[in-house]
Amino acid sequence: MLARLFRLHGLLVASHPWEVIVGTLVLTVCLVSMNNNLAASSQMCSWNECPKVEEKSHSSDVIILTITRCMAIVYIYFQFKNLRQLGSKYILGIAGLFTVFSSFVFSTVVIHFFGKELTGLNEALPFFLLLIDLSKACTLAKFALSSNSQEEVRENISQGMAILGPTFTLDALVECLVIGVGTMSGVPQLEIMCCFGCMSVLANYFVFMTFFPACVSLVLELSRESREGRPIWQLSHFARVLAEEEDNKPNPVTQRVKIIMSLGLAVVHAHTRLAAEHPGQNRSVDGPMATRLDAGGTMRPLKLTSMDLEQVITLGLALLLAVKYVFFEQTETESSLSLMSPIISSPPTQKPRMVGDSCRRDLPALKAQTSTNGPLATGAASPAVFDSKLPPETDAAFRQKEAAPGAPVENGPCVSCFEETLAQTPCVPPSGCTSEARTLEECMAVLSDPQRGTRFLSDKEVMNLVTSRNILNYKLESVLETPERGVAIRREMLSPKLPVLSALASLPYKNYDYSKVTGTCCENVIGFMPVPVGVAGPLLLDEKQFYVPMATTEGCLVASTNRGCRALSLSGGCSSRILADSMTRGPVVRLPSACRAAEVKVWLETSDGFSLIQEAFDQTSRFARLEKLMVGLAGRNLYIRFQSQTGDAMGMNMLSKGTEQALHRLQQQYPDVEVLSVSGNYCTDKKSAAINWVLGRGKSAVSEATIPAKVVREVLKSSSASLVELNINKNLVGSAMAGSIGGFNAHAANIVAAIYIACGQDPAQTVGSSNCITQMEFAGAEGEDLYISCTMPSIELGTVGGGTNLAPQQACLQMLGVQGTSSSEPGENARQLARVVCATVLAGELSLMAALAAGHLVKSHMAHNRSRTNLSESPSSKSESAA
Ligand code: NAP
Repeated sequence: MLARLFRLHGLLVASHPWEVIVGTLVLTVCLVSMNNNLAASSQMCSWNECPKVEEKSHSSDVIILTITRCMAIVYIYFQFKNLRQLGSKYILGIAGLFTVFSSFVFSTVVIHFFGKELTGLNEALPFFLLLIDLSKACTLAKFALSSNSQEEVRENISQGMAILGPTFTLDALVECLVIGVGTMSGVPQLEIMCCFGCMSVLANYFVFMTFFPACVSLVLELSRESREGRPIWQLSHFARVLAEEEDNKPNPVTQRVKIIMSLGLAVVHAHTRLAAEHPGQNRSVDGPMATRLDAGGTMRPLKLTSMDLEQVITLGLALLLAVKYVFFEQTETESSLSLMSPIISSPPTQKPRMVGDSCRRDLPALKAQTSTNGPLATGAASPAVFDSKLPPETDAAFRQKEAAPGAPVENGPCVSCFEETLAQTPCVPPSGCTSEARTLEECMAVLSDPQRGTRFLSDKEVMNLVTSRNILNYKLESVLETPERGVAIRREMLSPKLPVLSALASLPYKNYDYSKVTGTCCENVIGFMPVPVGVAGPLLLDEKQFYVPMATTEGCLVASTNRGCRALSLSGGCSSRILADSMTRGPVVRLPSACRAAEVKVWLETSDGFSLIQEAFDQTSRFARLEKLMVGLAGRNLYIRFQSQTGDAMGMNMLSKGTEQALHRLQQQYPDVEVLSVSGNYCTDKKSAAINWVLGRGKSAVSEATIPAKVVREVLKSSSASLVELNINKNLVGSAMAGSIGGFNAHAANIVAAIYIACGQDPAQTVGSSNCITQMEFAGAEGEDLYISCTMPSIELGTVGGGTNLAPQQACLQMLGVQGTSSSEPGENARQLARVVCATVLAGELSLMAALAAGHLVKSHMAHNRSRTNLSESPSSKSESAA
């Protein structure tokens, strides 16, 4: 209802700007002339009576006033800068200045109307300026500028008014009442200023509601490009402000607080005013305005001739900022305009906009330019490439382009429209929106100019620079102003080379924090792979409950593991222990002869030799501490397996660093040692190897549980006897028959991989980490219960470093309470994670083995793990499924 009222008001003001402007001016003149008549006799003060004011100011007052004035000037300067970012330096600036000026004139007139004189005005001026808030005016202007025709201007102003009006009204009311409290303070100077402050707020409100929208509407109408019939102010990207309408709506809670506050303050004011009128409590001699009146109630002339230091400072600052605004920022505008000159000067062609066309040029620049506070910043910063909140048409166009690279973009505004607006030339939307890429030399000049850089280059120009190897493809993320733009350009360059042009359309790349990826996790990035994450649990482990995140695309896996967790919970949980904790790195070095190699081996195995190597190794890290060297010999090659704890990190990089340093030390001792490789596969990392299975690597863990027969029967739908038998024949004999190393389990790798992907581990280390032997036995007094254990000697994982630095992965680690460095003891988080992995593997083993024993596996996979799309497409699959 209220919004509708404001909407109608906005429509009225925007439709009749001349009437509103003239009406406001006439009203102002009327008030002035009424004041002349009233001045001699009037004492219409509704405020408390005015106080006596000292003629002489204290020096401290002068300092405070000077500072306040300077602040006010700086504040106004920034307000104007904000206005400028709407794309027009002068039109809106002048409108803003006009608004400030008119609110000032209006409030002085109102005060005069009430019969007050303005001796205190010069003191109150800085406060008055600080009270003026142009931000809402800017937002309203944005609404107006997001229009394509004069009708739309009216419609959008009224819409803006409907959204901003109620908030602004309430704000003005609250501000007035709060400032009004100062008029009851009893401090004469403060009371005067507060009186004036209230008037200023009211005047500002009045001007915003009438004068400003009328001015904006009029200015936009007058600046229409009559020849082309197209408005020069067409800033289509401001359409976003309409999409963000919701964001502009006030928070209802804040609104309610303001209403309650204003009611309370109104009561306080009413009470104080009534008390002041009471004969016994008459404060009239101390009222704020009385002493401002001389006999005739006339205004005392301001002493403009006597310039004191305070005025000199204020004036100096104002001049400085004015010069900066007019000249310095003029240069900025000119430089950006000159940059746009190729676009502006080239005649509009009918060539459709293609992928990589320079229509995107300066979007990032625009974003950077508008990244200051205030509504303008968010409204203007809407580069298509960088922001997911695109105007609908831009978004559609961009998606179309993404889906079919090379295809012309049919709809949507382009940035050149904005550029052309600045240049005051018409834009030919949208198919005529083209611009040629500049020459390599020009682009290089822009690239090497610290003032401009890549943000002043179009995508097409950047691609040309990549093709000519002036920008290296793999450095795109770091060279461009945002990594996301680098990724986008790499995708655009790659797409045409792929068998399917639109192959990358469904690979997301936006809204991802590449800062954590670049230089750490991935190179040549073209996006990120979303993988579904499920949760299994609660897993009752060592009397604590865990909810285990599992990233997988294998249907049934999470459900099955969850069933295992339920069986464990109903059985009193599962217990675990860490048996060993040390990462390994096994370099290969060569000696001139096998005998010499044997000599070095002996030295390394002495305590002196070990100590020297250990010293070199340990100094490379705060956490890595060399524990053991295991030396193998083959001919004249030496394989040295370095073994060290690594705190909470998985530790491969730490081990590599330490090993390298230790080998340097070894070479000092034996200069004929030739390092063939820091890794000689004796580690062994990411390959199946008996050494890890036998000696362990990373964390060695064991978990166990006893499942009562009832739980085996009711939850696992099996029996202890069938499980034990199956375990022997499948996990032990079957794996032995296959010549397995460490694969004496049903599907440990399934669980390890799913947790590793969710928790930012190195997925390739699933190879060694899945080493596991699952054992099952009869248990309980009657031998009907089931005892199960999983022993995993080489769980390679960590909670710091590598992929654990990425936010989604950290979220999963946080689910388990193990993210980052352990607060109790370094390495405790990583060890806890290893226990969780081992116990979840046990849950998975339990459930899968039960499903196999009961013959449920195929059935459940057919139901939950087969792609319905494939089934419907393939007739053979259909018959298989039916069977
Ligand atoms: P890293 O991130 O390279 O090193 C761990 C860093 O974290 C070190 O700088 C360490 O400090 C610091 N840190 C802070 N708090 C710690 C704590 N509580 N415990 C341990 N370290 C702590 O991680 P990494 O585990 O050594 O290496 C993992 C990465 O290596 C993964 O990206 C993996 O994919 C990759 N990787 C490398 C190889 C290889 O051959 N290099 C092989 C396989 C995998 P300090 O500087 O004091 O040590």
